[in-house]
Amino acid sequence: MTDFIVPGPLAEPMKFGVYTGIELEVQDAAAVPWTAQLGLEPPRYCGQCGRRMVVQVRPDGWRARCSRHGDVDSTELPDYR
Ligand SMILES: [Zn+2]
Repeated sequence: MTDFIVPGPLAEPMKFGVYTGIELEVQDAAAVPWTAQLGLEPPRYCGQCGRRMVVQVRPDGWRARCSRHGDVDSTELPDYR
């Protein structure tokens, strides 16, 4: 707890499914596409607010932007490729 900056779209804890835009509390696991579960797809929705993000896919990754929570780039995330 060293800062109070706005959390990024994929910062934990997330409230919304990043592939569905559905609140995690009510999201059915089956709603998440199989390819997304494998980490093959970029997130489409902000994990903080559920807004649809603007996603740019590159050969080496992707970049996603929420209008409220800013950008996240796959190269900044060790869990994604
Ligand atoms: Zn957001």
